[in-house]
Amino acid sequence: LRWVILLLAAAVILPTVCLLWFMNQAVKNERLATRQKLIDFYTLKAQFFFVEAQDKGYTDLFSEIQHKETAKAHDLFSDFAVDPLVNTFQGMLIYDSTAELIYPLFESSNTETIQPTSEPLPNLHLENTKRIYQLCYPENSEEISPSRAADIMRYRVFLAKRYQETQNPDLIYHLRKMLIYRKSNSSKENWFLHGPAETTVWQLEKMIEIAQRSGLASRLDVEIQSARNRIKAYSNVIDISPLYSSAASLQNWPNQTIRRLSPESEYYGLKFNLADKTILGVSKKHNLLWLLDAATQNMQDDTIDVQISDNYGTVIVGDETIIDKPFLTLKAGKYLPDFTVSLFFKDDTVFEKAARQQTRIYLWTGLLVTLLVLATGGISIRAVSRQIQMNRLKNDFIATVTHELKTPLSSMRLLVDTLLEGRYQDEQTVPEYLGLIANENERLSHLIDSFLTFSRMERNKQVFEIAPVSPVEVAKQAAEAVRTKFDNGNVTFEMDIQKALPMIHADKDGMITVLVNLLDNAYKYSNSDKQIQLNVYQQNGIICFAVKDNGIGISKRVQKRIFNRFYQVDSRLSRTAEGCGLGLSIVKFVVDAHKGTIDVESQPGQGSTFRVKLPQC
Ligand code: ADP
Repeated sequence: LRWVILLLAAAVILPTVCLLWFMNQAVKNERLATRQKLIDFYTLKAQFFFVEAQDKGYTDLFSEIQHKETAKAHDLFSDFAVDPLVNTFQGMLIYDSTAELIYPLFESSNTETIQPTSEPLPNLHLENTKRIYQLCYPENSEEISPSRAADIMRYRVFLAKRYQETQNPDLIYHLRKMLIYRKSNSSKENWFLHGPAETTVWQLEKMIEIAQRSGLASRLDVEIQSARNRIKAYSNVIDISPLYSSAASLQNWPNQTIRRLSPESEYYGLKFNLADKTILGVSKKHNLLWLLDAATQNMQDDTIDVQISDNYGTVIVGDETIIDKPFLTLKAGKYLPDFTVSLFFKDDTVFEKAARQQTRIYLWTGLLVTLLVLATGGISIRAVSRQIQMNRLKNDFIATVTHELKTPLSSMRLLVDTLLEGRYQDEQTVPEYLGLIANENERLSHLIDSFLTFSRMERNKQVFEIAPVSPVEVAKQAAEAVRTKFDNGNVTFEMDIQKALPMIHADKDGMITVLVNLLDNAYKYSNSDKQIQLNVYQQNGIICFAVKDNGIGISKRVQKRIFNRFYQVDSRLSRTAEGCGLGLSIVKFVVDAHKGTIDVESQPGQGSTFRVKLPQC
């Protein structure tokens, strides 16, 4: 049995340990897997927003520029700075095919031919306004050289001042044309001049000043705004032009890409090559990089931080104080090849949190499976051990029955044969032999009764008829049953029954069997001078039947086991006492069925006292 149980236990423990180990590994892996899953997720997301969606946005922008270039091939100078594209660019540098800067032109680069803006106006006969007008609005203005254009600008300012002084109503028309300063399609109305940037800015500022002084500012509101935009656009490029005075400085700048213009500058440039020109669009961050902002907005959530740095490594989007190692870096699409997008986990315990849910499922499943395995194992062990016990019981039963039946049967056979064959000495021995046969017969019946009771008990078929019974009657009938045996065996038997005992709920025959068995044992396990007592008394609402003998006694060690089936302290075949080890187990079974208790008090050589206690009615 021990081996079977050990084997079964191993069969349960081994898978349980394995399961726990796997669970542990799974929990560890879950953390890594969750991290990888999150990284994969954000990589895909970043790829979409920072590369695909962004590339599409810039592609649209470039095709718009391309479209403008085709539609207004000759108009670039005037329009790029102030046109709808002003939403994207705050200035523009244009180089020709020889890499020379052709827009804007600067006084500083042509010091010999262009006078500085502070120079006084040309000396003119101030009366001849018509002559001045002609100077201001020459024909074929496109062919005019930059230095001549600068002079004309001075005439224009002069004319405006003159109109103002003489309060000429033409002032507003002149100012409007000058402030709008746009190249017109009609050659007659074309007063656009491709002059030096500084002079152009100076002229525009003067015109605004005159408009304000002559009280025309409100009527020329739109024009003044347009002029201011243009001034701004010029100023922007004036600032950065020393860095990019020739297209050669853009050699390492890939076509159709965006970069910051200098580490100090707040402006970004977008380079694009057209058929015969190179253009550097100048723009503030939010105008050119709003797609980056949009992508960042789409990316950011509670889990991650986004940081974007430009071609100079300056953080332009996100928190620059983050110095952790990013879990992901990528280039921000083909138009921003020098921009780096870095993604950080806000909180490194995020994996644990994400994995916790999964881990909990693992743990519960593991626990359930373990419990299931343990429960199944427990049930199997119980079933197997029960089966083994049953088998052993059967074997014991068969062995005991065979042995116990054989002894009285063979002695009866011997006696009967002696009588039949007439081998007795005198007639007097006949009744003696018959008496012996009767004794053996009775012993046999007694044994068979025990077996039958035991068999019924094992099959749970023993039915007790519980009814109020007088304990006195039970004791008396039991004493009666053993009386003949005790009389013949020289026994001093005393019965002491307390007076006025209450009734008990019991099966009368069952309780008589209990007492007969105990008295029988007292008789069997006592030597020559047998002194047996049966006491019945009441104690705290309990009726107690005590059977006391002065026999061989029972050692403490075996006292618990004597109630087991087939247990005999002396199991040698040569033992003198008859019996098969079932008596006390039957007693215990009956007492248990009555919800009572049985205990024994004994010492080897000092006799024994068995006490059966049942609740009174
Ligand atoms: P058996 O049929 O062998 O008497 P029992 O179940 O009645 O079986 O008793 C079990 C064992 O308990 C006996 O073999 C005996 O050794 C011991 N025993 C029972 N009653 C007494 C007693 N009154 N004094 C000493 N030993 C006892």
